[in-house]
Amino acid sequence: MRAKTAPLLSPLLFLLLMVAVACQAMTGADCQAATTRRSGPAGTPVTIRHLAAPDRSPPARLVPANLQPALPDRLHGLIRRVALPLGDKRLALTFDLCERTVHVTGYDAALVQALRQGNARATFFAGGKWMRSHPEATMSLMADPRFELANHTWSHANLAVMQGQQRVDQVLWTSAQAELLREELTARRARDGRTPLGPQPMTLLRLPYGRGGAEAVDAVNALGLAVIQWDVVGEGGSGSVAARAKAIAQAVRPGSIVLLHANQVPKDTAALVRALLPLLRQRGYATATVGELLQAGAPETVDDGYFSVPGDNRVYDELFEDQGTGARVNNRAGAKTGGRAAERP
Ligand SMILES: [Zn+2]
Repeated sequence: MRAKTAPLLSPLLFLLLMVAVACQAMTGADCQAATTRRSGPAGTPVTIRHLAAPDRSPPARLVPANLQPALPDRLHGLIRRVALPLGDKRLALTFDLCERTVHVTGYDAALVQALRQGNARATFFAGGKWMRSHPEATMSLMADPRFELANHTWSHANLAVMQGQQRVDQVLWTSAQAELLREELTARRARDGRTPLGPQPMTLLRLPYGRGGAEAVDAVNALGLAVIQWDVVGEGGSGSVAARAKAIAQAVRPGSIVLLHANQVPKDTAALVRALLPLLRQRGYATATVGELLQAGAPETVDDGYFSVPGDNRVYDELFEDQGTGARVNNRAGAKTGGRAAERP
């Protein structure tokens, strides 16, 4: 597992670092321009908008009305992949939708279009605040039977450092926000005379930054959600889209969970997915949601989350303010003196 994913890791971290370093040296406006990119053939810009002040406001509903049933024992722990019965060659493409308190991060419509055109199933791990910022995109994902919507905490909290009620809120606020939008979608469908959607509580969560040990995982499991990581890092890397798609296709195996993003992490994910889907088909793979993999096989767990090698994500514990959800620590005036100045507009 390590050997299969390690080659893709370093370029990913390098890419993230370069964006962060570039933004650090610029004004907010320049940074916004620097992190704006084209999402693909549709030409929809994906813009990371930096807020003048962090948005810490809670959702309109704090606790989901439909509370989670208890999580079955077999789904406890930090799930990295799923062991499937022999001959079942499905895997899960997963896309995170991340948004810290200081951002509004956008939506890669061309990527979703690529998945739909390729008739691919996928799981989206969406931040609760992201769903509130992008209600139409969220409802579009919810309404598509190919897609599964899952929890990525409210504002991209680092659950390895966040504790207590704050941590519980990060999970439940997100599930409640999803519930509100599902109710809105159901109401719209009823107005249009279409079949209403029943409640569908969120059952899966991905830890932001992959950070969280046994204690954090237990806390999430106690709220009724399974914790899902990945065994293949699908984004980052250098070289052509074709070369990177081939690297992913070579790294996966049946039951793999592939990490990708549907907004913030550059770049050209839509083109990457367009190149990847036929390669997977050629190798006999079919796509499934994470929930479908879990129904079919046995989860494989690890003790702590990581990208490719245990411990490779601990750097994130110190990188962002407010327990992972705020500005980058050195991306503001006063950082070196420990000041709490607001991020530059
Ligand atoms: Zn994320």
